[in-house]
Amino acid sequence: MTAVLVLNADLGPLHRVTLRHAVRMLLREVAVVHESEPDRLIGVYPMPKVVRLVSYVVTRWRFGSGPAWSRAGVHARDGRRCGYCGKDATTIDHILPRSRGGRNTWKNTVAACMVCNQRKGDRTPAEAGMVLRLQPSVPTWHALAQR
Ligand SMILES: [Zn+2]
Repeated sequence: MTAVLVLNADLGPLHRVTLRHAVRMLLREVAVVHESEPDRLIGVYPMPKVVRLVSYVVTRWRFGSGPAWSRAGVHARDGRRCGYCGKDATTIDHILPRSRGGRNTWKNTVAACMVCNQRKGDRTPAEAGMVLRLQPSVPTWHALAQR
């Protein structure tokens, strides 16, 4: 059985399905033929090599909120290095301080050493004249699992 590649509505590849499954998707009108075998038909359809979803499917692994925030997760993501000076991190710094509404989110927290954490205090990096070595991001499940 030939495998047919399924693309999301934005052309991002999702997974492969059997030809039979792909034809069922065409029949149910949830997908359209994106690329076909030349001069071959299956029923009324060109023989699909690639089908594309009609409506966009949100995929957890690409666009989801990702793993829940945790202190351990931030340390793992940042390789246990201070986001400001690169030394061993022992704490977490809130980029926008908690006292000013900064939340426990992946993008608002970096691993930090005590020295940098105390130096920064209740200020933003810009106010404290400190530069982040990295742009904090939401880690993938995969990246966290590898650390
Ligand atoms: Zn530091």
